[in-house]
Amino acid sequence: MRYEQDERSHMRPYLTPASLGPQVPVESRKVDKTGLLSWHANKYSAPMVYQGARVGVRVEDGTLILTDLETGQEIARHRLSQGKGTIIRNKDHYRDKAARIADLEAAIGELIGDDAGARLCALIKATSPRIYKDQLSAVKRLLAAHAPLLLPRPAVTTSKPMSQTQNVLLQAPTKHRHLPGRHCVNWTVMLRLPLICRRLPMNISIEQVASQYRGIRCNHIAKGLADLLREAEANEVSYLAFAEVLVAHEQQQRNQRRITLNRRKARFPVDKRLAEFDYRHQTTITKRQVNQLLDFRFIDERANLVFIGPPGVGKTHLAIGIGQEAVDAGYKVLFTTALALVEKLELAEIKGELKQQITALQKFDLLIIDELGYLPMNRQARYNLFQLVNALYEYRSVIITTNKEFTAWGEFFHDDNVAVPIVDRLIHHSHIFMLGGESYRLKQKRQR
Ligand code: ADP
Ligand code: MG
Repeated sequence: MRYEQDERSHMRPYLTPASLGPQVPVESRKVDKTGLLSWHANKYSAPMVYQGARVGVRVEDGTLILTDLETGQEIARHRLSQGKGTIIRNKDHYRDKAARIADLEAAIGELIGDDAGARLCALIKATSPRIYKDQLSAVKRLLAAHAPLLLPRPAVTTSKPMSQTQNVLLQAPTKHRHLPGRHCVNWTVMLRLPLICRRLPMNISIEQVASQYRGIRCNHIAKGLADLLREAEANEVSYLAFAEVLVAHEQQQRNQRRITLNRRKARFPVDKRLAEFDYRHQTTITKRQVNQLLDFRFIDERANLVFIGPPGVGKTHLAIGIGQEAVDAGYKVLFTTALALVEKLELAEIKGELKQQITALQKFDLLIIDELGYLPMNRQARYNLFQLVNALYEYRSVIITTNKEFTAWGEFFHDDNVAVPIVDRLIHHSHIFMLGGESYRLKQKRQR
């Protein structure tokens, strides 16, 4: 009893106009999906929210009154049509297209930030002016579906959102591709979204990022970052392409630097280039033979080159020229005359560092020993040279220029016991070029 009393005090009378019963009989009609209902052979519009629902209809003084069936409230009135088959519309029942577009634009701005939103909408308008509204709604739906992944607003604070936006785009196509026709988002437009978003103000500076790159020893990226960014933005390159640009830039600059260093370390006595070599003068070797060497298979296969011939026929020129090309191709090269080499080894041997010296020489991919055989060597020198040749054998490549034929080497070394194994190791896996002809120096002198 007590409970009933308490409850009753909270109760309100439930009397709506509908429940009171109409003074005029009310009929119910279904509103179709275009927002129209049929009444006595004519059609009348109902507010958009009633699309597909039923509404009450009654006639009072030549006026058709539409009511909400639940609340009984009047929702629209139309003058009754006298004719048949006419459609009577109330403008208010249809949303203004411009207002709808403005709403969609605002909603997109809401999702990705006003600035980016405005840019994106402008882009859509430019590319699909005739289906602008449908595109907007498709894009909005797409962005809304991925809202949690999208940019945090109001401003972008890190570079992270860029990748998030890209994620959205990468994931989205499968989900939204199947929308028909004009409601399918235009992907050429949407794929530019990361770019559009990237232009948003970020409180992160190029200098900051550059110093981070420097921190991980990517100095070339750090140095060129501003230029690379400007270029990428101008060309609107994709994220992946830009990632590749960065790493390629760093690699290329490193290579360039290494090559410059390697050229310095190679200690070429003069700058001789293969391009300057005159094959009309030197006919005992062809350009083709030399060019075949420039794939540097011989270095990769640890083979040797031997240029044999009298003075002035271009042996040193060819050796330096090939050496320079090898440096350009990224190999480590050392040029030395046989004399300097023997002296170096001798000095090292006296200091008890022969082994270290040989190890140091082994670091080069290609060792050019010029003018081997021009001068006699003592026993120790021959032994040192043998140690070196032995260490390089089938491990590194050597280019030798010499005026002596192999048969004469024993005589040159004064000791066949060492000469034979040295020659043996040098000419095993080697390309031998016997150069002949007139000395280039003499020819030039004569011409002068
Ligand atoms: P080698 O080492 O055989 O004694 P070099 O290579 O030192 O001869 O050549 C002597 C000089 O003549 C160098 O200045 C070299 O550049 C030049 N020379 C030799 N042959 C040619 C050639 N075929 N074309 C252009 N220059 C040459
Ligand atoms: Mg020479």
